[in-house]
Amino acid sequence: MATKHHAHSHKHEKVDAEDALRNAGLKVTKPRLAILDLLASEHGPFTPDEIHVRVTQSKAAGACDLVTIYRCLAKFEGLSLINRCDFGDGTVRYELGGKDHHHHHIICRLCKRVDSLPDCPVEDKSIKLPKTGFRNVSHRLEFFGICPDCYAD
Ligand SMILES: [Zn+2]
Ligand SMILES: [Zn+2]
Ligand SMILES: [Zn+2]
Repeated sequence: MATKHHAHSHKHEKVDAEDALRNAGLKVTKPRLAILDLLASEHGPFTPDEIHVRVTQSKAAGACDLVTIYRCLAKFEGLSLINRCDFGDGTVRYELGGKDHHHHHIICRLCKRVDSLPDCPVEDKSIKLPKTGFRNVSHRLEFFGICPDCYAD
């Protein structure tokens, strides 16, 4: 397998980045559109640097500096348009957010390959949350291991 990022089955409809921005009450700007478009079409998850390289190389974002990318990502994250992935390596990565896109990852400790898992083990067990009064509760859960490619070496 040449690719490090494995596509996972998308049960949801493809996200229209422009609609998503409007629905979130955001002005549609070139960088915003380019970032959301990228995350809607490729799983990643991508670091801000990777996002910057991709949206400027494709010219989709126009002339856009890394600070702008960070600002857009912070805004998107605050509105749950995207999710921050924490793989415990001190690097922040982002992918498309929202309930329809909820899934977990398994990450190779050696080559950092990221696979998506098809099911949510937490939802399956319908874990009972104590009555905290919290609403819109979300969770994060990532798995780590050694992938078959690295294991074979
Ligand atoms: Zn590996
Ligand atoms: Zn993912
Ligand atoms: Zn889950």
